[in-house]
Amino acid sequence: QSGTKPPPPPSPLRNSKFFQSNMRILITGGAGFIGSHLVDRLMENEKNEVIVVDNYFTGSKDNLRKWIGHPRFELIRHDVTEPLLIEVDQIYHLACPASPIFYKHNPVKTIKTNVMGTLNMLGLAKRVGARILLTSTSEVYGDPLVHPQPETYWGNVNPIGVRSCYDEGKRVAETLMFDYHRQHGIEIRVARIFNTYGPRMNIDDGRVVSNFIAQALRDEPLTVQAPGTQTRSFCFVSDMLINPDVKIISVENTPDDPRQRKPDITSAKELLGWEPKVKLREGLPLMEEDFRLRLGVPKK
Ligand code: NAD
Ligand code: UDP
Repeated sequence: QSGTKPPPPPSPLRNSKFFQSNMRILITGGAGFIGSHLVDRLMENEKNEVIVVDNYFTGSKDNLRKWIGHPRFELIRHDVTEPLLIEVDQIYHLACPASPIFYKHNPVKTIKTNVMGTLNMLGLAKRVGARILLTSTSEVYGDPLVHPQPETYWGNVNPIGVRSCYDEGKRVAETLMFDYHRQHGIEIRVARIFNTYGPRMNIDDGRVVSNFIAQALRDEPLTVQAPGTQTRSFCFVSDMLINPDVKIISVENTPDDPRQRKPDITSAKELLGWEPKVKLREGLPLMEEDFRLRLGVPKK
């Protein structure tokens, strides 16, 4: 989803020499799983200067080790719930724990990160005239009653449940994005991301793909949370080849777990020409390789 109003004029705060040649890009949460891959992609362009802001709650400097010390890269320890005064052209606002076990660990902090963090980043975008992207989530649809979910669906979210700090936090963050766009003309982008998996995921972050790969590598049973019929957009990971004798056990589920989830990507295809390219069968082995290295489990 994107705002279409023209952006405000460039800020006088921007250094004119820099403005002609380079793009200075802020990534909040850039030490995390998705953020660090985004840093890799943006650093490939020599015209980009990348600044990462992270409080290392779920991310780590290790994810960025190849860039530390690079002249076009800067890493700042900072919590987005506090204001930030810097000069940038674009903001990718990712800072927020994404895994249920981490976002439920301190729910009030999760809401603060989503609401105050997004407010601070929008304030920054407004001051310097930067374009801002928010990584929202499929969780804004809650336990969806419409399947698959198009962007126009308003969702079915429990406002007082244990997942609400994240779901409602992201919903307010989206509201703030659109209000700043309507009220202040800020150029915005909102990306509703669905379950993403791959190398550099936190090994013990409790999500289904990382759990299953780590459990299989550690010779532990795979924990299928009851009833086991829930769906996500990458399907059920029943056919991993890591250990053919792996056991599967049924365990208790957590409250408000969405029963089905799948994005309706018609608009993304038509408007952005976007569709996923990497099949689950291709992506899982790459993640297995990364987890083997980090867990020290050699291939048999
Ligand atoms: P992650 O936990 O690996 O990364 C989040 C990063 O934000 C971490 O580096 C963490 O330390 C940092 N952070 C958290 N709170 C902060 C704060 N208050 N101040 C500064 N930094 C803070 O998660 P991820 O999977 O990389 O997710 C990135 C973004 O994408 C999040 O906004 C998440 O909601 C969204 N998203 C992810 C998925 C997914 O499947 N991974 C799905 C939907 C949405
Ligand atoms: N799940 C599971 N076993 C696990 C972890 C998760 O069966 O070890 C299930 C969980 O109940 C949910 C789905 O997998 O239905 C995806 O959960 P995850 O925590 O990965 O992501 P989210 O709930 O945020 O989509």
